[in-house]
Amino acid sequence: MLQPIEPSAGKPPAETRRILKGIPASPGIAIGKVSVLRQESVLVEERVLRPEEVEAERRRFLQAIARTRRQLEGLRDTMLQSGNGEEARLLETHLLILDDREALESTIEAVRLERRNAEFCYRRVMNRVSDKLEESNSEYFRERTSDLKAVKRRVLRNLLNPASEMAASLNEPHLVFAPDLTPADTAALSPEQLLGFATDHGGRTGHAAILARSRGIPAVVGLANVSDAAEGGELAVVDGTRGIVEISPSPDSLRVYTERRASQQRLAERFASIRSEEAVTKDGVRILLSANVEAPEEARRAVEQGARGIGLLRTEFFFLNRTDPPGEDEQADAYGAAAEAVAPDPVIIRTMDLGGDKLAAYLGSEPGANPFLGLRGIRLMLQHPGLLRSQLRAIYRAAARGNVKIMIPMVSGLEELRIVNRMREDVLRDLRSEGLEHRGEIEAGIMVETPAAIWIADRLAQECDFFSIGSNDLIQYSLAVDRGNERIASLYDPFHPAVLRAIRHVVEAAHAAGIWAGLCGEMASDPVIVPLLVGAGLDELSAGPFFIPAVKSVIRETNAGEARALLDRLLGHSTGGEIGAEARREFARMYPDLAELAEP
Ligand code: PEP
Ligand code: MG
Repeated sequence: MLQPIEPSAGKPPAETRRILKGIPASPGIAIGKVSVLRQESVLVEERVLRPEEVEAERRRFLQAIARTRRQLEGLRDTMLQSGNGEEARLLETHLLILDDREALESTIEAVRLERRNAEFCYRRVMNRVSDKLEESNSEYFRERTSDLKAVKRRVLRNLLNPASEMAASLNEPHLVFAPDLTPADTAALSPEQLLGFATDHGGRTGHAAILARSRGIPAVVGLANVSDAAEGGELAVVDGTRGIVEISPSPDSLRVYTERRASQQRLAERFASIRSEEAVTKDGVRILLSANVEAPEEARRAVEQGARGIGLLRTEFFFLNRTDPPGEDEQADAYGAAAEAVAPDPVIIRTMDLGGDKLAAYLGSEPGANPFLGLRGIRLMLQHPGLLRSQLRAIYRAAARGNVKIMIPMVSGLEELRIVNRMREDVLRDLRSEGLEHRGEIEAGIMVETPAAIWIADRLAQECDFFSIGSNDLIQYSLAVDRGNERIASLYDPFHPAVLRAIRHVVEAAHAAGIWAGLCGEMASDPVIVPLLVGAGLDELSAGPFFIPAVKSVIRETNAGEARALLDRLLGHSTGGEIGAEARREFARMYPDLAELAEP
């Protein structure tokens, strides 16, 4: 549990200006007083039990687990009621960790055989698991250690002090600095009071980052020691756009940040005024601007931000954090609800893209030595045809409730597409003969994200209805740069000419075959890149909901003909560094009112 540390009594805040650099997790500038939340330390002592104490100790342990479960379920239900599906899902992960049979049984066994107290045995079991996770090469798994530790702390607290409960939230708007923020911590922080936050740990895919983006709160993560660097009550700035935290800023710096924040607010007002307008360029080229969403409940938020549909509904949420796969009815209901939320605009439902760093134990998928080059996406699903079939059936059934399209991830060969196409026909025949309500005439497309798919795009285009470029993976695979490896993050370059050429090539192949092409990775969320994507001739862009207004503004102020010429000119350069630098300069020149968006 995190406890707020009130402004230190008697001790004046250290007033020297300090600047810390971390990972930009959620854009925007927040200025305010700091509240430092520290992990409450839990002191665990080793105690030898008398034989007659063993049974009582086992019961005490199980009672603490039950109490922890009630607390987590309560927090999850509160989050669901207040529409925070993201937090609720993260708390669901904590419940799964809590109920892990192996951890519970190993602890009870240790209590019985070694005759040691429950907190001592439980901590040892959980530490072993988190040590293993921490060694993982995958950022995703490393991030999960913070979940494990949060659950461990809560159980230990309940064993040691059954009366303890969540920290009270602070009652004036403030910045929160903490070692890390778990879903339970953020659930306890009132959204109205939270101006922004900064954490020592965490990466772009950690909870803190996900939550900040979904709430639109500026945040910087991975700052190493921000929770020690500031005193409670000190003035600070969280610059989530650049990944900088400034504590006790100088008057000059404070003035600059205040001006930037004001210009961001002006932009926000301007964005709000075009929310219901179309994403059409100055010379009349209409681009379908849709949103990437991680779960059906986010569909509403995407529409509120001005998206015209969902360009990527990731369905992994359904398959992760559970002990067996979801049923067809359950999926059909959820997909149908998302389709209804955005109808008549489209929702593109991507079949599950598990594997890589997203593993579901019941599929028996081992990460392998190179998980992103392994059993992932359509490859994994073709080994579990029953699961793919039931997902396809659910999608066709949901299609009766709105404008639904199907999309297949990680395609690297025409055979994969053909197998799925045959399976779609079988599924439709079955649905018809069973008389189940569904809609069969819907578009089916593929994600273009492997170099193989780029270079056979002309052939693939003959056998599907659309392309959606998965830029996150297209960059990773084209440049051979692991997207989750922070040590080579500087090589992960969306401006690399190989990436821009690939995008242009794929769009040309699609258009030559008479199908449309969109792009749905993070690239579509970067305003500076948007003119280049318009210039490449993309018909659809799908961005994170939070970025939709900025992307729409850029499109509306772009001339598609000029954007084409700009892309041609930039591709005259040979390096990503040159292209990126000129793209930024051009952006500031072409869109002076939006220059704030081009800040590096
Ligand atoms: C992508 O690769 O760009 C994409 C949108 O898919 P994901 O990020 O889920 O791999
Ligand atoms: Mg992908």
